[in-house]
Amino acid sequence: MKTDKSDILTLLRNSADYVSGQQLCDQFGVSRTAVWKVINQLKEEGYQIESVSRKGYRLLESPADILSQSEIASRLQTKWAGKKLYYVDSTGSTNTDAKRFAEEGDPHGTTVVADMQTAGKGRRGRKWQSPSGINTYFTILLKPDFAPDKASMLTLVMALSVVEAIEEVTELKAEIKWPNDIVVNKKKVVGMLTEMSTTPEMDEIQYVVVGVGVNVNIGSIEEFPDEIRETATSLRIESGKQINRAVLVEHILERFEQNYEKFEQTLDLSGLLDAYQSHLVNVDAQVRVLDPAGEYTGISHGINTTGELIVEKEDGSIVNVYAGEVSVRGLYGYV
Ligand code: ATP
Repeated sequence: MKTDKSDILTLLRNSADYVSGQQLCDQFGVSRTAVWKVINQLKEEGYQIESVSRKGYRLLESPADILSQSEIASRLQTKWAGKKLYYVDSTGSTNTDAKRFAEEGDPHGTTVVADMQTAGKGRRGRKWQSPSGINTYFTILLKPDFAPDKASMLTLVMALSVVEAIEEVTELKAEIKWPNDIVVNKKKVVGMLTEMSTTPEMDEIQYVVVGVGVNVNIGSIEEFPDEIRETATSLRIESGKQINRAVLVEHILERFEQNYEKFEQTLDLSGLLDAYQSHLVNVDAQVRVLDPAGEYTGISHGINTTGELIVEKEDGSIVNVYAGEVSVRGLYGYV
């Protein structure tokens, strides 16, 4: 939902020169007082806006890190990803919200961003730790017209988009731990959860939601709960720099839109395979596959075009591991 605020911020952001109050009123059909109110709200949020009489307003600086509807919307250069954008300070789970919006008829690409989740979800009923003020949690709603068996590849499309965005926004090298985690220096910074609703006959997708949680500005390892302290990290811990969460979300959505459109052309990962493999950890390395049907070890040889992990077992047989319920570990630790 574009508000006047994000429209005004977009215009200020994209203008090198002053924008007059009159221009803002005319363009958005609002009163001078309304413009003045929005400018004041933006200033309160930490935007430095210069106002010069007879010239108008000029954006001098944005806050170093702000996550808001207007900040993301005013930066986003996409056709459909995040074009309808909900921002909430706190919610149970952005995946649950996105599913509700899907049922209510929101379009493909609708995105829900939150600053905090009270019931963040991982796979198999696990929890995603979602404290406020430092991270980002968002879900994109997709309404594809391909068959349900293709949907698990969307997690991989998102994983690739997230590593690409992290590398654009930070100087870090980010890697994918197949199928749904992103690691930096072998520790987890991003988790993802894809959920799907199909028609009762299970032959058509009603919608898919892809949820992403990123540990962005957590300042130290001690801030993580005991159970994940050994395996988790944040972009800030690894880079030593505070990151603008809105910029990160913007880059992820922009990459995702491009990668999704490539995926749609073939309905497999052939157009994205090289990029994905170049970011994959544990290629040609020993891994332990935690399959609920029984664990085994083998050598991972990367993924095939449908997103399965190719694992060579000790007896030489090849297994194409389907992402669904499986986790993978390095032989000597989490990665
Ligand atoms: P794994 O990461 O063990 O391979 P998974 O991919 O199935 O498993 P997810 O569903 O992605 O796991 O995420 C849930 C798990 O991630 C939790 O059980 C916990 O171990 C870990 N976790 C939860 N919150 C965070 C967080 N904020 N940062 C890093 N790790 C977390």
